[in-house]
Amino acid sequence: MSKRDYYEILGISKGASDDEIKKAYRKLAIKYHPDKNPDDKTAEDKFKEAAEAYEVLSNPEKRQRYNQYGHAGVGGASGGGGFGGGGMNMDDIFSQFGDIFGGGGGFGGFGGSSRGGGRRVMRGSNLRVKVKLNLQEVAKGVEKKLKVNKFVSCGTCKGSGAKNGQLETCKLCGGSGVQVRTQQTFLGAMQTQTTCSGCNGEGKTVKDKCNTCHGDGIVRAEEVISINIPAGVAEGMQLSVGGKGNAAPRGGINGDLLVLIEEEEHLELKRDGNNLFYDSYVNFADAALGTSIEIPTVDAKVKIKIEPGTQSGKVLRLKGKGLPDVNSYGTGDLLVNINVWTPQHLSAEEKKALELLRASKNFEPNPNRKEKGFFDRMKEYFE
Ligand SMILES: [Zn+2]
Ligand SMILES: [Zn+2]
Repeated sequence: MSKRDYYEILGISKGASDDEIKKAYRKLAIKYHPDKNPDDKTAEDKFKEAAEAYEVLSNPEKRQRYNQYGHAGVGGASGGGGFGGGGMNMDDIFSQFGDIFGGGGGFGGFGGSSRGGGRRVMRGSNLRVKVKLNLQEVAKGVEKKLKVNKFVSCGTCKGSGAKNGQLETCKLCGGSGVQVRTQQTFLGAMQTQTTCSGCNGEGKTVKDKCNTCHGDGIVRAEEVISINIPAGVAEGMQLSVGGKGNAAPRGGINGDLLVLIEEEEHLELKRDGNNLFYDSYVNFADAALGTSIEIPTVDAKVKIKIEPGTQSGKVLRLKGKGLPDVNSYGTGDLLVNINVWTPQHLSAEEKKALELLRASKNFEPNPNRKEKGFFDRMKEYFE
């Protein structure tokens, strides 16, 4: 399932200002708000889609990553084994509203009424980990098993926090988790709800606390999480694995696992986007007479031909020997820069041989040769 472009979702241009982004989102949030479109799945999807687009584009750092890497750069590598996409839940969306609708002023409750009965569901915090990949792993994609220390559901009480799993309905709110008020808003009369102080909005209280987790329903534990990293990722990208973060107290929703990609530097191959570079040296005689040389690629060494009369600075392009694009837009190339090595230490005999050649007409440099010069090659590369 491919995702729509965030700018397209909000109906704005790539150069839109922060203010334009906010306005565009505000308009869509009102149009598709669940309170105005009850039981309308399409509206709900559009509401969520707009919220996700806003979440990314309103954050300068995320926006820049999105501009550069697309959805994969902001944890939305959907379809790629195990990545849950960057979908937001309603709680996340409503927590954005303080920002969008001017904060305070009762709009906290704007979201409350659509959360089905209003009972608060606790959400575990996100867990952040770094993963270091070598070039082979970047090129092929890799499954990594990460050992993380995190909150998991308590086994003794099955996450309930109570001995024998016995929870009591909150006496203060009767289990609804909220206290309700009616208030005038720009959408008309709306019910504003505040979180019940007796149960922290959960609707239930723990009578006899579990001895293992002291009523929290969660305990710290080490867990091995297996994640599939798609090919073509780059330093600084963040992948989000839904539901693999910290468990929430008393049976709530798990947070996400956020995986920050780090790259190990390759000793010989340098990376620029999806292209790779290799700097090679051939000796003076080989450049004149032609030869074949061995160069490294991501997989293995390969032999390439050096034509007779090759000039220093010639760039050979090995199509498709670079890295795959993380969004599957093809594969980069391996560019091999040929340097001709000028001998620095010569024996008397070697000097004599070269003295004989020095005067040869064929040794005369010819800058008007047909081959591309440095500037042409640079232009071609950056085009
Ligand atoms: Zn427990
Ligand atoms: Zn309560």
